Amino acid sequence: MLHAKGSLLTVDVSDRTATRTEIDDVLEQFVGGRAVATALAHDRIPFDADPFGPENRVYLSTGPLQQSQMSFTGRMNMTGLSPLTDGLVSTNAGGYLSREFTGAGLSTFELVGESDEPLLIHVTDDGVEFEEVPELSGALVPEVSEYVAETRDLGPENCIAIGPAGENLVRFASVMTFNSRAFGRGGLGAVLGSKNVKGVTFSGDAEPSVEVPNSPAMDIHREAATSDDIRKRQGTTAGTELKNEKFSLPTRYFSEMSFEEIDSIDGDAVEEKKYKKGSCSACAFACKLPLRDEETGFETEGPEFETLYSFGSNQGVGDLLDIMKANELCDTLGMDTVSAGVTVAAYLASEDEFGNAELAQEITEKIAYRDGIGDLLAEGVDRCHDELGVENWSVKGLEFPAHDGRVIQGQGLSYSVANRGADHMYSVILRLEYAGEIDPKGTLGKAETLIEMEDHSAFRDTGIVCAFGDGYVTDEYLAELFGADYEELLAVGAETVIRERHFNNKRGFDRADDRLPYELPDLDAAIEEYYEARGWNEDGTVPEAAVEPVVTPAD
Ligand code: SF4
Repeated sequence: MLHAKGSLLTVDVSDRTATRTEIDDVLEQFVGGRAVATALAHDRIPFDADPFGPENRVYLSTGPLQQSQMSFTGRMNMTGLSPLTDGLVSTNAGGYLSREFTGAGLSTFELVGESDEPLLIHVTDDGVEFEEVPELSGALVPEVSEYVAETRDLGPENCIAIGPAGENLVRFASVMTFNSRAFGRGGLGAVLGSKNVKGVTFSGDAEPSVEVPNSPAMDIHREAATSDDIRKRQGTTAGTELKNEKFSLPTRYFSEMSFEEIDSIDGDAVEEKKYKKGSCSACAFACKLPLRDEETGFETEGPEFETLYSFGSNQGVGDLLDIMKANELCDTLGMDTVSAGVTVAAYLASEDEFGNAELAQEITEKIAYRDGIGDLLAEGVDRCHDELGVENWSVKGLEFPAHDGRVIQGQGLSYSVANRGADHMYSVILRLEYAGEIDPKGTLGKAETLIEMEDHSAFRDTGIVCAFGDGYVTDEYLAELFGADYEELLAVGAETVIRERHFNNKRGFDRADDRLPYELPDLDAAIEEYYEARGWNEDGTVPEAAVEPVVTPAD
C-alpha cells in the first residue's frame, strides 16, 4: 500500500535533544497521518499522562499524498492527549506546511518534555536548532510569523505557532499555521503552551520518494480545477441556508434550531465580501475565504461555516462583520472558533445577552488571557456550565459543532460514540442525512453505516485527503491511489478508531461517556448495536485482544 516516507523526528524540549528514527515498518502498516500518529501516541504516551505534563506528546504527521501535486492534499494531521476531552484527539489543518515539512525529510514529528524557557524550534533536513525567545512571550500568532520572517527569512507556511491562549493553557487553544489555518479541536495549542514551545519551523530540500500514480491523481486535479462547484466560491459556508432550512443550525445557545437573520450571514453574504481566492498547497479547488469589509477595510480569512454558527446564530449575532472580527480574534490569539464560540454563547446565555457582539468579542479576548470571567470560561463548557447555570452542550468535554443531532439523528449517534466527542468531522454521516440518502430520523439500524463513515474519515485523515475532496476522490480513486482494495483502507481507519478507544478506555472512558445532552429515539439500543458491530464490550470498552501492540523504536 502507498505510504508516507521520511523519518520520525523526536524532539525532547526538557533536555533539548533531537533524535531521528526510521519507522518504515510503522509507515508500511499505518500509511501516515492520523493512523501513524495514533499508533505512536498509543504506544508512547503513558495511559495516565497529565495532558499538561512533560510526558504528553504531540505528533505532527503527513500522508503520502502530501508529496504529490494533487488537489485536496494541502493538509496535515496533529495528534495528542487533549486537555479538553482528556482523551486522544487528532485534528487536521490546511495551509502550505505539508510541503515544507516533507522538505525537512520527515513523515512524523514528535514533541515531548517541558522547556524552562519559551522556545522556537527550527527543523531543517540538516538538523534541529533550539532558540530561546522570551521576547515572544504573549505574542499573537502573526507576530510569531513576522519574527520568523525577519530572523530566518521563512514564511508563515513554514511555521506552526501558538498565541496567548496556548501559553495561558486555555483548554481549547489551537495550533495555527499560515496564520489563519487551525489545528483547532481539542486544545493541542495548550499542550504546546505547557511545554513552553511557542512555535516550530520546518524547511529543507529533502524529497522522499513517494510515487503517487499519475492516474487518477491528474484526473482528480483536473476535475477540481474545472468544476463549477459552489464551494469553490463559498467554501464551507455554501450550505448555511440549507442547514437553517432543515432546522439544523443551533441558535441562541441551542435553545432554537434556526436563525431568523440567516440572510445576513449565509454563503451569499460571505461571497459578497470575498476579495480574492484562497487555497492550500497544490489545491486547484481553492475554497478558502479571504474576506474584506469594504466600509471599514477590516480583513480576515474566513469565517468558515462552523464559525458563522458558533459566533453567529448560536450567539444571536446576525452581523457578518462582527463574526469576522471574532474569527480574527480567535486566529490571532490561537483558539478553536467552535469551542470558543460555544463557550462565549454559554456565557451570553447566562447573562441574557444574546446578540451583544461587542460583549462576545470582549469575552473572547478575556478567555485568551484568562482575565476575570475569562479564567473560568477558558476551561470550556463541560467544566464551567454549572457555575454559569446553563446546560452542558458538550460530549466528552468537546463543545458541539453545528449540524444539530436532534434533527439529523444518525449524526447525533455519531456525536455520542465518537472518541473525540462532539465533532462533526469524526464520521460525517451528516452528509448522507442531509442528502436524504438515509432517513435523518432515528438512530437504530445506522451502526454499520456509521462505522464505515468513521473508518473512511480516519483513513482520509491518514492519506491525507481534505474532506472537501470526498465527491472527487471517490472510493475507487482512493483505492487506485493507494494500490489497495477500498476495504483494506477502511481496515486501517478501523485500527485507528480502535486504538483511540482503547487509549481512552485506559483513562477511564466507557459507556457512561457515550452520552448526549438530549434525548434521541432508541439511542441506548443504537449504541449497543454500534458496540456489537464494532466487536466491543457492552460497557463500551475494546477487548484487549483486539489491540495488537505496535512496537515502535524507543526514543
Ligand atoms: S478543498 Fe479547500 S480546504 Fe481542502 S485542501 Fe483544497 S483549498 Fe484546502
